[in-house]
Amino acid sequence: MRTYQHSGIVPILSAIQSLAAGTTVAIVLGIVYTFSFYYIPYVYLNFLLAMGFGAGVGWVVGWMAYQGRIRNTGVTVALAVVAALVGIYFEWGTTLYALAPAAEIPEYWKEAGLSTYLPHAIVAMMAHLYQEGSWGLTAGQMVKGWPLVMLWLVEAGVIVGLAATTAFAQIANKPFCEACNEWITGETPHFYQGNGSEPVWTEVQNGNFDPLADTEQATGGEPIYMRIKLHVCETCTQSNYLTITRCENTIDDKGNPKLVENDIVTNLDVDDTQVELIRTAHLIAPIAGMPPLGPPVAEPSAAERAAGGAATASGSAPGGNWTLRS
Ligand SMILES: [Zn+2]
Repeated sequence: MRTYQHSGIVPILSAIQSLAAGTTVAIVLGIVYTFSFYYIPYVYLNFLLAMGFGAGVGWVVGWMAYQGRIRNTGVTVALAVVAALVGIYFEWGTTLYALAPAAEIPEYWKEAGLSTYLPHAIVAMMAHLYQEGSWGLTAGQMVKGWPLVMLWLVEAGVIVGLAATTAFAQIANKPFCEACNEWITGETPHFYQGNGSEPVWTEVQNGNFDPLADTEQATGGEPIYMRIKLHVCETCTQSNYLTITRCENTIDDKGNPKLVENDIVTNLDVDDTQVELIRTAHLIAPIAGMPPLGPPVAEPSAAERAAGGAATASGSAPGGNWTLRS
């Protein structure tokens, strides 16, 4: 069966708007980041701020790309990278002001103004820091020379990398209906028992949804469970997609609960009939601890009870052998 692929269409105005918004936010965050970097003496906190800087830029670019109906992850990532690089450039241009004693900033501004943002001024600032260092991991010990250059590269890598991945996540795996020119919203997911290795998941990927109705439902609290999610276009019958995800409840390094998600199939192309089968399967699939849904079992009559254990045996017979017909 086929899976959804983005058409690659980029409305040009949307690309310009995404870049403009992303760049504006990047400049603001770049300036804020420079000051916080030199004013906050905690390296770990600075690292988190660099991550926030990158993720913030990427989020804005990705959000604008989504609003502007950009169905192209490559272009979206490229826009985020350009915006992040502009932000880093402004971070460097602001360095002189961040290093200046706070009280003297107005004086520095009167003298230098925006000239610190000129390329040769930035190169001169880098050369100065390379020689002299600007901050240290331990008191009285300045980081300078090549170790400092390495840290600059790591910092830039974190900012650009997070901008790219955050923008990517906003667009990737979200199906779009080309006929209706609209993103397709996802329905409430269904949870099932399993870890993805059961035959039912292979059957489902091959378009046979009947075994789903016999698969026990999960609550989402299990250590491992399966999640299936439908994207169904509301205005036409042509665009329906199914994503099946293996979910694992784990604990991260800091002891916080963390959900690890792995798609076993992403946006599988399904037709209208299959959508109904998937919805119906969820309605009749057995729930742990509950009797399977089946034809009502008649209470044994007084005569049957008098006859002994035979009635009890027949009462437990219906085993919920439901099948779905298309
Ligand atoms: Zn549609």
